[in-house]
Amino acid sequence: MERLQKVIAAAGVTSRRKAEGLISSGKVRVNGEVITQLGTKVSAQDRVEVNGIPLMKEAKRYFLLYKPRQIISSVHDEKGRKTVVDFFPEIQQRLYPVGRLDYNTSGLIILTNDGQLANLLTHPRYQIEKNYVAKVNGIPDKMALKKLQHGVRLAAKKTAPAKAKLLSSDHRKNTAIVSLTIHEGMNHEVRDMLQAVGYPVDKLSRERYAFLTTEGLTAGESRPLKHQEVAALK
Ligand code: URA
Repeated sequence: MERLQKVIAAAGVTSRRKAEGLISSGKVRVNGEVITQLGTKVSAQDRVEVNGIPLMKEAKRYFLLYKPRQIISSVHDEKGRKTVVDFFPEIQQRLYPVGRLDYNTSGLIILTNDGQLANLLTHPRYQIEKNYVAKVNGIPDKMALKKLQHGVRLAAKKTAPAKAKLLSSDHRKNTAIVSLTIHEGMNHEVRDMLQAVGYPVDKLSRERYAFLTTEGLTAGESRPLKHQEVAALK
């Protein structure tokens, strides 16, 4: 059983907030009866109509986007900046990103209209592994890599241990490329971890999300997820 406003929003009719307005103003019927009570729960067997039109079960869509830098990971931006959803102008369904990447981080992000999968993937219990490649100022020594591997104390809390590897270094420019694999999703976690051990991030990219990699995609490109990939994420 799900709340009526959630069912209406999930069918792609409108947002949950606006669905509440439709319910309160008597525009919604369940099994032929007008329902104005917001908390009402309905099951898949109930026939829901909005303005006399039965809800269609919306097709679930799943995409993998290689987000470029300077793109917002949300559905809408108050400042009018381009968002990850703007890469899918031809898709009818109301897509939204699963989790977030910083404005200046590039890399893989899933977009879907499947709220259940989105919740599952972002729930800390599921511990989805994410690999990031960072260009940092300075060349991390063994000690710094060890600290990352043990977990770093940030302002909010201590991070879980990460897999940390030095991929390459440029002694002339005093920069390095570091690979960091984490399974948490704290805000700015990778940038904050590297900063905390003394190596501020210059560029950051998410190269792997669970088993999904950037293979075949360049920044700004996307592809639908395959059935097997969606099944494997669940
Ligand atoms: N960690 C960060 O610091 N930024 C991101 O965008 C993702 C993970």
